[in-house]
Amino acid sequence: MFIATQDLFKIGIGPSSSHTMGPLIAALNFRQLCEKETAVSATQGAVDQPCIYRLQVILKGSLAHTGKGHSTDKAILIGLHGYKISALMNHDLSALFADLEPKKVLAFPNIEVHFKLAEHLVFDKGPPLPQHPNGLRFRLLKNEEVILEECYFSIGGGFVLTEAQIESDDLQVLMPKHPFPFPFDTAADMLAMAASSGLSIAQMKIENELMNIEVGSFDAKRVELKNTIARISSAMFDSVDRGIGAKGILPGGMNVERRAKALHDKLRAASVERLNIDWLSVYAIAVNEENAAGHMVVTAPTNGAAGVIPAVLYYYVKHQGAAPAAIETFLLTAAAIGGLIKHNSSISGAEVGCQGEVGSAAAMAASGLCAAKGGTPEQVENAAEIALEHHLGMTCDPVRGLVQVPCIERNAFGAVKAYSAASLALMGSGKHIMSLDACVEAMRQTGVEMSRNLKETSLGGLAQTWIEC
Ligand code: SF4
Repeated sequence: MFIATQDLFKIGIGPSSSHTMGPLIAALNFRQLCEKETAVSATQGAVDQPCIYRLQVILKGSLAHTGKGHSTDKAILIGLHGYKISALMNHDLSALFADLEPKKVLAFPNIEVHFKLAEHLVFDKGPPLPQHPNGLRFRLLKNEEVILEECYFSIGGGFVLTEAQIESDDLQVLMPKHPFPFPFDTAADMLAMAASSGLSIAQMKIENELMNIEVGSFDAKRVELKNTIARISSAMFDSVDRGIGAKGILPGGMNVERRAKALHDKLRAASVERLNIDWLSVYAIAVNEENAAGHMVVTAPTNGAAGVIPAVLYYYVKHQGAAPAAIETFLLTAAAIGGLIKHNSSISGAEVGCQGEVGSAAAMAASGLCAAKGGTPEQVENAAEIALEHHLGMTCDPVRGLVQVPCIERNAFGAVKAYSAASLALMGSGKHIMSLDACVEAMRQTGVEMSRNLKETSLGGLAQTWIEC
């Protein structure tokens, strides 16, 4: 099992990796399929009668229930118009959406395709598709006859699978094909390989990452990996900096006021040194306010949980003077742990609740901090386990389907728990009762047993007890 660091930490847009980024990628992928399909038709010669093309998109499961609040509709329209996420970093997405929404057709290279968001995007709140709670069905119709259809699943963290891929029993087919030097699938394997090689988790991850970089000498690959990590950390730090500098009301209609700047100003003005929990909280809130505003954040491992890892890393760098090498160790270790959780359970709130999002982020942050501060592989595994264990059972019940309440504050608590878990693990020997593997499996089983109402549908929990004044 190998998941590249840059795939787990995708630089993207808010507010949700599964409900915004994933659908945008799916829409763009379907557009590309349509372009291929219609390019073939166009070369097939004369057309006796004019053809009318139309596109239809059906959102299923959690996407149907909370897609509005998570801007799924906007993401799909933007993807169908051919925008890649990398091209959206400096766009005001609301302005782009306002520009695209009145358009009645999508301009493909060979044809024009009718698509009106209000008519042709369906929020189907019936039973979800059996394969995954986040399903999207796309259809291209020619003279009202379906000529192309594909179903996609947004499985969290901006990862998207087709129907054939999700139904494949062998998930290895989706992974890179190289023989990796340290192919650990479980935390137990990871610890065994660290013991036999004498390498740290980050060092093993580097060896695997270098194998995944296709071309270049060893030195060139190493430089590329360093640059990738520098890009990720700098995007994380940008999201903190922008968040602590911004004021105003978040979009979505709940009138949630941004707090990070005011809190940060207070901390800076305090006459006595404030506790690390205050700083960690404000940094996490800053990132998640940026996410809620639809701005650039890094999936870590998802957008909803995007504040935990940057908060802990930013605190470590700005308050404790971490060096660049420590940042690399932090992020590579966090990516290794995130990969294990994703492989053996889930990082999707729609699949296992918020334990899979903020819980996974806390486990990753705890492991990264522990490793960067010199923890042994056993202490690192212990840190991840402590952080995840104390998020087990946490549901996903976003009010109004927005990634604001409880999500923004929840990241603050995730960051604080991650910091505590790393500290506890560093003070111990690495020996502990509950293994990370057992904890990840408990999260998976808890997710299976969790009510669908509490898995990113906004049909239960805080989403239902909140009363609008
Ligand atoms: S409650 Fe947690 S899992 Fe659900 S949307 Fe918010 S951050 Fe994501």
